[in-house]
Amino acid sequence: MAKECPEHGMLKSLICSDADFYRNAEKYNQTGKKYLIKRYATSKNLGCPWDCGLCAEHQQHTCVGLLEVSGRCDQNCPICYASSNMAGEEPTLEDLVNRLRFLSSCECENPSLVITGGEPTLRSDLVDLVAEAHKLGYANITLNSNGVNLARNPGLAYELSKAGLKELSLSFDSLNDDVYQFMRGSNLLSLKKKAIDAAKCAGLKISLSVTVVKGVNDLQIGHILDFAKKMRIDGLIFTPIAFVGRLRKEFLNPLHRITAPDIIRTIVEHTNREIHASDFIPVPCPDSHCSALTYTFNTGEHLIPLTRYCDVSEYLGAYGERPKHQDPMVAAALDKLWSMSATPGSEHVLDSIRCCCSASTNLIDNVMSIQVHSFQDAWNFDLKRCMKCCVHVVLDDKLIPFCVYNNLYRR
Ligand code: SF4
Ligand code: SF4
Repeated sequence: MAKECPEHGMLKSLICSDADFYRNAEKYNQTGKKYLIKRYATSKNLGCPWDCGLCAEHQQHTCVGLLEVSGRCDQNCPICYASSNMAGEEPTLEDLVNRLRFLSSCECENPSLVITGGEPTLRSDLVDLVAEAHKLGYANITLNSNGVNLARNPGLAYELSKAGLKELSLSFDSLNDDVYQFMRGSNLLSLKKKAIDAAKCAGLKISLSVTVVKGVNDLQIGHILDFAKKMRIDGLIFTPIAFVGRLRKEFLNPLHRITAPDIIRTIVEHTNREIHASDFIPVPCPDSHCSALTYTFNTGEHLIPLTRYCDVSEYLGAYGERPKHQDPMVAAALDKLWSMSATPGSEHVLDSIRCCCSASTNLIDNVMSIQVHSFQDAWNFDLKRCMKCCVHVVLDDKLIPFCVYNNLYRR
């Protein structure tokens, strides 16, 4: 991508290292489900991206609401997109419950909810907040966490689960403490493992969220995949690093960055082509360049992609030109699976998998999703993608697409 700024001149950024991958994603661009938006909180005034939101120009409803419950964090990571540290601010519980009510008032159905920060577990009332969200009808609640407090206080995972939390999304960049030192500022591996144990004991679903930096932890991708397989983790999410927040200059090279096909290629090679690049299907609810996803059956030894059982690309590709012989039940199930709102390992996901393939119960009980989600920064910022975003930060009276928030609205 090349763009010109009157102040800064020409900016160039690599947006995708594989032209075929990029072109193929175009086929999956689905028309947004705007009919699921109950009301727009703002109207068109200055034009995108200054009218968030959602304004009436926005092309997709909210699949995922991001509730930032704390600006505080105990880690001070050099790569933090939110620049969090212990000095951050914290909204009151009442403010947060009001934000949840506001979100409910904007959507026909409550979306999936991600409680994030800063580090949410620093709040002493986090269990109450989860209980309130559950009471308001939020069924899919995920907690983003660095895992430190959960490792030190495993009882917290149990309390959160009892209050209605369904999933822990744990930042997990490596199986090597040198990488944690470099990316997060301290040795975290043993705490991460303890947090996984705590979440498992509490009955939470677990996904590992891996921020990938070229030359720092890209060689860890295969090891993390093996670890997730062994630990029977429910979901893996790889995010190529976006140059936002407190990122140090040495990370910044927009022309020499890792992009989605690089991560997928590494997975293909690491699994000896047990997983193919074509098993990763673009997620059609946001712009189809934002994310690609596959579901695998984890036998403990092998990862067998769902796409061996069901022709997902035939169903989800070529929107508006779907062949007539499609089974509507399967089409509906795949729409639910290839959505940003799908919570890894949830009953919702497993039911949908049952609906679209004839795999044995044993396989369906051991599903692991693998997703690549490519957030945007100033260099690859693409308004077309922003206007179709379905992952929205929930403020008092506004919903703001996450990438727009990180680049333009975050204070
Ligand atoms: S990103 Fe969406 S909500 Fe924000 S101004 Fe653009 S169209 Fe409106
Ligand atoms: S958060 Fe960013 S990368 Fe994700 S769906 Fe929204 S625009 Fe796309």
